[in-house]
Amino acid sequence: MVLICFNLLRSRLCLHSLHLTRSVLVRQPAELLKNTSSSSSCQISCRAATTSVHFRATAAAPVCFSGSVRSACFLIHVGPHSTAVTRCGRRIHTSAAARALPAPLVWALLKPLQKLVAIVVGRSIRKWWAALPDNRRQLMREWAWQLRWRLAAGTGVAMVIIALLLLTHLDESPVTGRTRLLVFSRDNYMELAALTSEAYMEEFAELLVPVTDPRHKTVELIVHRLAKCNKDIPEVSDMTWTIHVVQRPDINAFVLPNGKVFVFTGMLDAVADIHQLTVILGHEMAHAILAHSAEQASLSHVVDLLSLIVLTAIWAVCPRDSLAVLGQWLQKQLSELMFSRPYSRRLEAEADQVGLQLAAKACADVRAAPVFWQQMELADNLNGKATLPEWLSTHPSHKNRFTQLDRLIPQALDLRESCLCPALPAADPRVVFTKSVRVLLEQHKGRPEGANASQLPHSLA
Ligand SMILES: [Zn+2]
Repeated sequence: MVLICFNLLRSRLCLHSLHLTRSVLVRQPAELLKNTSSSSSCQISCRAATTSVHFRATAAAPVCFSGSVRSACFLIHVGPHSTAVTRCGRRIHTSAAARALPAPLVWALLKPLQKLVAIVVGRSIRKWWAALPDNRRQLMREWAWQLRWRLAAGTGVAMVIIALLLLTHLDESPVTGRTRLLVFSRDNYMELAALTSEAYMEEFAELLVPVTDPRHKTVELIVHRLAKCNKDIPEVSDMTWTIHVVQRPDINAFVLPNGKVFVFTGMLDAVADIHQLTVILGHEMAHAILAHSAEQASLSHVVDLLSLIVLTAIWAVCPRDSLAVLGQWLQKQLSELMFSRPYSRRLEAEADQVGLQLAAKACADVRAAPVFWQQMELADNLNGKATLPEWLSTHPSHKNRFTQLDRLIPQALDLRESCLCPALPAADPRVVFTKSVRVLLEQHKGRPEGANASQLPHSLA
């Protein structure tokens, strides 16, 4: 209990952060640049700006926090060795900022140690209980029974304290306005993201596509367009988006919380057109804008801390170490299935929704979004790739993503129209794809087995 309170308070006092990964996708780059230029200027006013807390700061300039509930103004004077903060006539002095590891990283390093302590404590309780004489055990049981109401009250108070601590860490998600738990701050995750991006840059140093390469220029064009057309969202306009295209066949792309965009060439080969790529990059940018990494790490942090109580109990109650190890494994799997994976799928669905909105405001043909997931599902089926049931996966199934995006298309088209985007072609990509698949499957009927995937058009492989 003390450990949990300490960790929550420590994270509350720290700054915040974020991290992010992503993966996915399908096929052909060909006409990448062709259609984007058709939708020229962005009408940022097409959507109401997100209501969130704003933060503006420059050296020796006023720093204002403003929100819907309250507002306060600070004046910060930054010197070489100290910082002075003035608020409403009062002056606060702070010492020079100390260099420290990002809180999420510190937590990740301490995590194994916390588990070890829980195991040792639980095991020690079991050994102590086993070594007690029978009459002492009976006395202990009677003592516990007499104090049962006090113990229950203590447990209740502990639960209330934990609940209050969690309530003080609630935050409102940008764009969607969803209430969420955020133990780690965005700043903490920015520090971690800086370390992560340095590591990626080192790993991909020899694989980066030159900035003059058309593939790099294409990704850059799309990302900058998405950023420009969504600059009414503070989390978009405040971010510096940097593009890196990596020469690797993996069908993958991700955006770090600090705006570093990494796209593998395998992804560029996989998308069908620039509209699909726009939606995919919108999805990845949405993860960064919404600070999903910080949110997911926050949930994981709290679940892990509460799990320490369960872990201690497992090692205290199980009569043998082997059973305790089995119990620990089961507890970890249950925690994954009940908390981590469902939450991850929820965040993916939210990134799909927000990414579609970003793409709509950038005048992409959002109807291409569900087609992409149809392609993914078809490619998996034709290649005989085994897929995990959704409840075991960190991502929604292709079918569910297609269904959700398809349901959101009318709303996205309205948003696109409100942005004064050019009219879309009459041919709906979803209809075109369905017809193409029908023709394709008819052509493949009667062909010998094994001649399927390799003979598919590139766009479907
Ligand atoms: Zn994602």
